[in-house]
Amino acid sequence: KAKEAGRARMTLYDPAMDTDRAQRNALELDLRMAIESGDLTLAYQPLVDAATHEMNGVEALVRWNRPGHGPVSPEVFIPIAETSGLIESLGLFVLRKACETAKQWPELKISVNVSPGQFRNPAFTDYVRYVLKQTEIEASRVTLEITEGYMIQNPQRTRQSIERLKSLGVKVALDDFGSGFSSIGYLRQFGFDRIKIDRSLVTDITTDSRQREMLQATVALARALDIPVTAEGIETEEQAIALRLFGCDCLQGYFFGKPMVADQINDLLQERREARVLRRIAG
Ligand code: C2E
Ligand code: MG
Ligand code: MG
Ligand code: MG
Repeated sequence: KAKEAGRARMTLYDPAMDTDRAQRNALELDLRMAIESGDLTLAYQPLVDAATHEMNGVEALVRWNRPGHGPVSPEVFIPIAETSGLIESLGLFVLRKACETAKQWPELKISVNVSPGQFRNPAFTDYVRYVLKQTEIEASRVTLEITEGYMIQNPQRTRQSIERLKSLGVKVALDDFGSGFSSIGYLRQFGFDRIKIDRSLVTDITTDSRQREMLQATVALARALDIPVTAEGIETEEQAIALRLFGCDCLQGYFFGKPMVADQINDLLQERREARVLRRIAG
């Protein structure tokens, strides 16, 4: 019997699984090295005022150029960092680097993504406090973006964590709203400072009237609760116009700017300062 079962199991054996595991281990090892040797970088994507299209903030997005492989998406390596104990150091790096960099942009707010694994850590608030102090950035300029996955499992603890973070003076936003199990209840009880509507809700609004109505209803809901709304994934002017009309006060997407290196943000700010001077002279 045991022998048969063993054989049955053997026939289910799939060598591809070993390869998968080996590849994953290699990736994890490389990621660990990248974090330790400071090889991760940050890209910054403009956040713009929906009415004027003027950049008033940036979202920091982590980037990893894996040696011998090229760029790896954060959607691939963040989950791996989560399950391999690397998320703490990765998250700390991102937060510190983003705050440090944003210090040179007093006219911009800075948004930083926080993953469930960081948020779950009871010491998270302490290390946010520590980074704020260390980098001397004004807390009110910093927004932490969290996704809803963890909240559903631990609503009570989530609410407490959000309160503690807000007591430091930072803002807390709900990221990717509309992509998962979001519900009205969550919006009401957690005290988010802002909601970011997921790109998947934005994509088809100018071609699909049902999508448009879903999005409109979602924005209306947030506004009924007095929570300001950012829409992400804006790729066309048409979308930008519609989303402003529906009540989003902040927009983000390739139409306004892709994620870019810090120097490019510097250039944009410099151009803007020069344009202002010219306008003053002309006017
Ligand atoms: P997210 O926080 O929702 O970030 C927005 C993602 O949408 C970014 O992808 C951005 O490049 C992309 N995006 C923005 N505008 C457009 C657009 O108009 N069209 C399209 N097609 N895409 C657009 P990215 O950088 O690949 O990041 C993916 C996700 O990985 C992020 O989604 C976030 O959940 C996570 N992530 C990124 N950086 C970090 C980080 O530093 N820490 C943590 N914990 N998660 C991060
Ligand atoms: Mg985000
Ligand atoms: Mg998002
Ligand atoms: Mg998203």
